[in-house]
Amino acid sequence: MFNGKLIVFSAPSGSGKTTIVKHLLTQKELNLAFSISATSREKRGEEIDGKDYYFLSTKDFKKHIKAGDFLEWEEVYRDNFYGTLKTEVERIWAMGKHVIFDIDVSGGLRIKKKFPEKTLAVFIKPPSIDELKIRLKKRKTESEDKINMRISKASAELATAPLFDCIIENEILEKAKKNAHTKVLKFIES
Ligand code: 5GP
Repeated sequence: MFNGKLIVFSAPSGSGKTTIVKHLLTQKELNLAFSISATSREKRGEEIDGKDYYFLSTKDFKKHIKAGDFLEWEEVYRDNFYGTLKTEVERIWAMGKHVIFDIDVSGGLRIKKKFPEKTLAVFIKPPSIDELKIRLKKRKTESEDKINMRISKASAELATAPLFDCIIENEILEKAKKNAHTKVLKFIES
């Protein structure tokens, strides 16, 4: 029988985890599918509903909370809810694939706690808070206010790194990608 695994990538915003997750998704032998989260935040740039996120109104998001539809959810930033629907994991396992998550630190740890044996929880560590600031500014997708909000959350998030199964430093992206690939392959083959 297929033994579906959960691969969690968590990190402060701007650490490069999305780039690493996207890279891993292109690696056929890893047999991964992306867990599309639900969110109440506004769509950014080129994002597509049902591909990057399921974009919901705050009202609908709260309805799902009440109905117990989430595996985990979090008000990551004020009035910006994010969560993993239980149906998302079921959908991916039913396709015979392992699930890869790009979610915040608390959500990642919650999944690890719920499925300790099935989950590999990886923390992506940025070289420094200053570097994080530079990366977020370069991205040009958020206002100064939103960038500051993300930065102020980052220090608290960095402190949770030791709670993860492994920490990958993302100073040189190519190195981080390779490291992530090795760790994920080893875990899904175990
Ligand atoms: P962004 O707005 O940049 O897409 O995401 C903001 C943060 O929310 C990121 O750290 C992202 O990983 C996290 N996030 C995305 N989806 C989920 C989810 O389903 N659950 C939780 N807890 N966090 C999520």
